[in-house]
Amino acid sequence: MTERLAAALEYARRHEADFLKNLQDFVAFGSISTSDEHREEIEKTANWVARRLEALGMQKVAVMPTAGHPVVYGEWLGAPGKPTVLIYGHYDVQPVDPLDLWHSDPFEATLRGENLHARGASDMKGQVAACLNAVEAIVRTGTLPVNVKFLIEGEEEIGSPSLADWIAQNSELLKADFCLNPDAGMLGKDHPTITYGLRGLASFELTVSGPSHDLHSGVFGGTVHNPAKALADLLAGMHDENNHIALPGFYDSVRPLSGEERAHLAKLPVSDAFVLAQTGVPQVWGEAGYTSVERAGGRPTLEINGMLSGFTGQGQKTIIPAWAMAKITCRLVPDQKPEEVYEQMKRYLEERAPKTICWDLKMYGGSEASISDIHKPWVTALANAMESVWGTPPLFKREGGSVPVVGMMQSSLGMESVLTGFGLPDDNLHAPNEKMHVPTWHRGIETLVRFFFNLG
Ligand SMILES: [Zn+2]
Repeated sequence: MTERLAAALEYARRHEADFLKNLQDFVAFGSISTSDEHREEIEKTANWVARRLEALGMQKVAVMPTAGHPVVYGEWLGAPGKPTVLIYGHYDVQPVDPLDLWHSDPFEATLRGENLHARGASDMKGQVAACLNAVEAIVRTGTLPVNVKFLIEGEEEIGSPSLADWIAQNSELLKADFCLNPDAGMLGKDHPTITYGLRGLASFELTVSGPSHDLHSGVFGGTVHNPAKALADLLAGMHDENNHIALPGFYDSVRPLSGEERAHLAKLPVSDAFVLAQTGVPQVWGEAGYTSVERAGGRPTLEINGMLSGFTGQGQKTIIPAWAMAKITCRLVPDQKPEEVYEQMKRYLEERAPKTICWDLKMYGGSEASISDIHKPWVTALANAMESVWGTPPLFKREGGSVPVVGMMQSSLGMESVLTGFGLPDDNLHAPNEKMHVPTWHRGIETLVRFFFNLG
């Protein structure tokens, strides 16, 4: 261990109480992004982050306006020739209701046992603070071994509506080798985790129509094709008997899971038994040839999200409905494109829809999947840092959902993101009694200190 690393780690250990006190100040702001009444708190929080960045010697620190809540920016580029990390975070939080279910004031951080309870303690003021504290430990005992840029936004909890434009307008400012996004958690307190892939999305609405109005089933039953049945047949045909998706060409651009990835995924604590326990289904289901954990992150899916047709009120109404509609979304993996899936869905309908009905397919937009190469030096730097702290290598995980900002970084800046974080599955994110496990958080700070040095 170098002297500089040792000094920074020693500083972090000596200042554990100060770091926690500092986080308590941070979470005391009610920076709820969803409603206008918290605008003042949002401003105060953004200013607090900016002041903290300045105190750490960051340059160009600014609270920058967007169409919505401001972005806080700051950078330090005093390590020429070394990598530049763009650290992403958000300072906004979810609403706190129902308030009566909280055991303590959500904006007055309260320590109970090893957990600090407050809104934002885990998602993600605690994670932003961990990054700031790691930087503090390094700059108070020497200089940063890498270049850093901070982008801390205030609209993540409402879907980052202003961020894509802001990123596009500031692409020069944001130039970096990669983005560190600590808004993803760990799979358990003994399982440091790196999330390297997220799925994309393509969403559709399919309407099947037949007669110009609902028909009497006694008069016309047997002579016209019922749109609800026709839609049901079309939907049923979208998977084959092995639960592969039957849209023509659907798998052509799907990047296969490598043997190495499958080995990593097999180590995740997500078994069929876990799925059964979480969902209450009698048996698991899915694409033949893949495990549940592979199906949920590494393979594309097609889901019917809702169906609407005919009479669904109390009692009976003997009709043939005029139309039937289904909402459909596909989760996509690299290298699928949402527009391609739209074309595949259209071709499927052209080939399979009977002449007895009409159909209309609308696309509601989509996003591409994102993935980071796990052999990139920054992933190795983070993995090694985690192994030094926890004594065990991290789990490598693909997330089944999407994180809009990761897609924005990829499409707008061509930048890969590495997702991590030190929150735990039982942190009650977005719910009453959100908490953060303090010993894990301190380990997280140590991990980040080591990460910066490994990278430099
Ligand atoms: Zn978050």
